[in-house]
Amino acid sequence: MQEKREIPSEVIERVKKLREEIEYHNYRYYVLDSPVISDAEYDALMRELKELENQYPELITPDSPTQRVGFKPAEGFKEVPHAEPMLSLDDAMNENEVIEFDKRIKRFLGLSENEPIEYTVEPKIDGVAVELTYENGVLTVASTRGDGYVGEEITNNVKTIKTIPLKIRKFAEDAPEIPIRVDIRGEIYLNKEEFEKINRERILKGEIPFANPRNAAAGSLRQLDPSITAQRKLDIFCYGVGKVEGYRFTTQWEVLQVLPNWGFKVNPYVKLVKDIKEAIEYHHEMEKIRDTLPYETDGIVIKVNELSLWEKLGTKARSPRYALAYKFQPTQSTTQLLEVVFQVGRTGAITPVAILKPVQIGGVVVERATLHNEDYIKNLDIRVGDWVLVQRAGDVIPQIVMPIKERRTGEEKEIAFPTHCPICESKLVKKPEEAVWRCPNSNCYASLVRKILHLASRNAMNIEGLGDKVAQALVDKGLVQNVADLFYLKTEDFMKLPGFAYKKAKNLYEAIQKSKKTTLPKFIYALGIRHVGEAMAQLLAERFKTLERLMNASMADLLNISGIGYEVAKSIVEFFKNEEHQKIIKRILEAGVTFLEKEEKKPKILEGLTFVFTGTLKSMGREDAKKRVLDLGGRVSDSVSKGVNYVVVGEAPGSKYQKALQLGIKVLKEEEFLKMIESV
Ligand code: NAD
Repeated sequence: MQEKREIPSEVIERVKKLREEIEYHNYRYYVLDSPVISDAEYDALMRELKELENQYPELITPDSPTQRVGFKPAEGFKEVPHAEPMLSLDDAMNENEVIEFDKRIKRFLGLSENEPIEYTVEPKIDGVAVELTYENGVLTVASTRGDGYVGEEITNNVKTIKTIPLKIRKFAEDAPEIPIRVDIRGEIYLNKEEFEKINRERILKGEIPFANPRNAAAGSLRQLDPSITAQRKLDIFCYGVGKVEGYRFTTQWEVLQVLPNWGFKVNPYVKLVKDIKEAIEYHHEMEKIRDTLPYETDGIVIKVNELSLWEKLGTKARSPRYALAYKFQPTQSTTQLLEVVFQVGRTGAITPVAILKPVQIGGVVVERATLHNEDYIKNLDIRVGDWVLVQRAGDVIPQIVMPIKERRTGEEKEIAFPTHCPICESKLVKKPEEAVWRCPNSNCYASLVRKILHLASRNAMNIEGLGDKVAQALVDKGLVQNVADLFYLKTEDFMKLPGFAYKKAKNLYEAIQKSKKTTLPKFIYALGIRHVGEAMAQLLAERFKTLERLMNASMADLLNISGIGYEVAKSIVEFFKNEEHQKIIKRILEAGVTFLEKEEKKPKILEGLTFVFTGTLKSMGREDAKKRVLDLGGRVSDSVSKGVNYVVVGEAPGSKYQKALQLGIKVLKEEEFLKMIESV
């Protein structure tokens, strides 16, 4: 007799906990149409439970969520038993799991691995499954999936959807005769535009928005009052049949061909493929275009084409063996809102931006999301510290869909919208017809860009590679709101700027790190105090010796110095008295900026050498390269002659390269040049 094995108590506990959690989320999702975690997070819980049950099958019980579909019908709805169960679908997240599905089917059917199986592939519409029963061609009952065996009656609600025929008609000569009874299955959905409209209205009314179009469709359909359903522009794609009496379909492809000829809407992207490889290709193609479709899809559904094989393969407790949902990358997740910063745009518009606890969504780390405007924050009652549902799609800026109020602890703080511009401190204004607050100072955006450029300039902090375009992009992306932010940016941040790949981003990052070793006069100059140019900065540094002393200097202290007049002294005192400036200086110093007694002079290793550049350099601009040579004591010439020592050759060099070869002048590749100048 086999010995009964011990199941670790942690496993039993975990399984219990997972089941409770999943049950709770099922209830929120299927009954209330109001989930509190994203689908991807839910799927992860379900996968963990399935894995534990696989390892310890003795823990499986018939009421485990892994063995059940959806949820039993809600109170108030009449129950409709399905003639054939409406099951869920197994899902796959990657190619390997899809290949394994194909292999499993072949093993089950006793086929060899290289015998191809035909599949239909269809977009997986993110909506609600319904069954429409037609008797003698007339729609008699419509129901939701419910728990797979018994659904909710929604006949009158469904009748408000114009694309659902009340009577089946033959639209093609060769279409099969209308059967005595047929159960048509499909997905009722809301298109993206309609979904956004409904949510906008809900938000305005102070109601919780729907998390996704699927919940919105379900919420619209599962209404005891069909007139509410009628107000929502629901639509349907039909994809299958349940019980049929009086006709026999032989393939799923035939079903998909016949349904339109009977008057049902079928998705235009359905396709028949000859093997699993083509099904995988189809998934990739659909994932590329998913953002352009007017309705939400969350994957594709792969179904064995031959219906006779469906019978042989049969079903498991929760899902059939002949079909698989191959999911797309998720677009939503939940995370915590850590802080809100207010970004000033080119037109002065103030946009609140959420700083999030970093979260992976579909392979991308999301750290910031837009909060649109003050009304959006207020209507949704979003607070700092809240758990929020975050959505990203394609290249669109991620956005916060809603706060998850169920997860509040009481520690959350209301978001205070600023009354003054975060850059220039002007009082913000708002036109009555607009939702957006604006900074009225037309110079504000430009002034931050100018401050960055001034700080980065050669005689200030000397940050190589930080020019006009980069400074603008840093402000546009909200990466820099005051100059101190520059010193906290990472290589990954610079990679978000247009035209920045890893190398360029790393160079800029390193240039900023290098700039942190500066001198006191340069730093004072970099602060951009009115009336304090380079010479004045030098004088102040000599007299006060430390930044702290300068910051604490009084009018009298300053006026005592010859060369400093009233205007200058006032400007300096006011600058350092400003709390915002004090904060910025503190943050810059905390980032590790230090003052050397004297500027470190680089050894003039290129003294006496003349360089010529030709072609495009990958790692830096031509001007930067020239400057580096000059800094190291070398000279740069525009033409090749006998007196030239090196010709540095980038990509697509011009005639100077030929000339160098003719004259026998040493030619340096970009990498060799870099090695030479970086050796100091
Ligand atoms: P599913 O959505 O993964 O797949 C089955 C459903 O796909 C079918 O019932 C049908 O409605 C739909 N479908 C769309 N197009 C189809 C097509 N062409 N052919 C066949 N079916 C098609 O499974 P499910 O059981 O409906 O729901 C489970 C999913 O719901 C989970 O993976 C999870 O993402 C989500 N969920 C989320 C939460 C949450 O709290 N966030 C809770 C419960 C469920």
